[in-house]
Amino acid sequence: MSHLGCKQLGMATNLQEVVETAVSTAISEREISELRDGLNSELEETLAGWDRPGDPLRITKDRLRRGLACNAQLLGGGPVPMNEHLALGRVVDAAAPTIATAPDTPHRYSKSGQPLPGAWGHAIAEPLRIEDPELGDWYHALSTLHKKDHDQLVETRCEGLKGSIGDLRSFTVVSQNLTFVDLAADVVLSARPDLIVLGTERTVVEVKSGKGHGIGDELAFYALVESLSAGVAPALVVGISLLPLPNTFSLPVNIELLDRAASLVVNTARRCRAVDESVAAARWPLTTTGLHCTFCDLAKQCPDISDEHLEEALLMAGHQVDEDADSAEEEPW
Ligand code: SF4
Repeated sequence: MSHLGCKQLGMATNLQEVVETAVSTAISEREISELRDGLNSELEETLAGWDRPGDPLRITKDRLRRGLACNAQLLGGGPVPMNEHLALGRVVDAAAPTIATAPDTPHRYSKSGQPLPGAWGHAIAEPLRIEDPELGDWYHALSTLHKKDHDQLVETRCEGLKGSIGDLRSFTVVSQNLTFVDLAADVVLSARPDLIVLGTERTVVEVKSGKGHGIGDELAFYALVESLSAGVAPALVVGISLLPLPNTFSLPVNIELLDRAASLVVNTARRCRAVDESVAAARWPLTTTGLHCTFCDLAKQCPDISDEHLEEALLMAGHQVDEDADSAEEEPW
């Protein structure tokens, strides 16, 4: 993991086993209240004197991630056009709650127990393409060969996800629950984890259709938002990544993790302010060049990376150009 070391629970471990053995790290309500007070003070100090836009400053996991790579990423570049990685991300996100609560879906297996071709496409992707016209239009414009390749990827990823989730029918599973936390200095945290599993303990889950770069920071952010919102910390945050092979990671939620997430929030707020002030002064924001430039939709305008550098970065990135576009959503200020 990029910024936080996740405990890798091993290839044989799935979410079901993680949830069944979850143990609370017993963070007290008082600690959470002190954490909120500390975060509020830091935000007030960081944002004091900023002649800012009228709306609340919304901190999301995508904004937090973008800001870590390069300040200018916080400008955003408009909606990302649909592509293979985004499409797979949407299918996998839609499949997660179904797999968690009805793991026998899609009921189309051969006598030897192998899933029949097109089973997940039939159960998840086809209905989703009707519900989501952007996804449907993208799929229907594909060539027959490309459709076949995509269908195959859908089957592989959904089977991988099924193995990574296990059977959660004995738990309550909440999906895509949007949570807001109002903080001082007109800052709002918002998070929408893929799954929340309620058993003896509460477990928050993020699913990545690819390698899950930077998932440790995202999980810490979810832990913070859930703790501040409920006043009680979840026991664990869990990440599931599906490339290169399906894998499950967990982080116990302790006060160090929450402190780390609070620092990331303050850092992101500081960067948002810096970007806004640069824009107001007609200056390009302070940038950080690196491999992330290869994904940057501002690269053509950016004064800090030349075409040559970009080509070099693209060559270096090579195989790293992967699926993580599935979280590249545009976030409004
Ligand atoms: S090209 Fe690189 S340095 Fe320039 S804005 Fe994009 S990420 Fe930042």
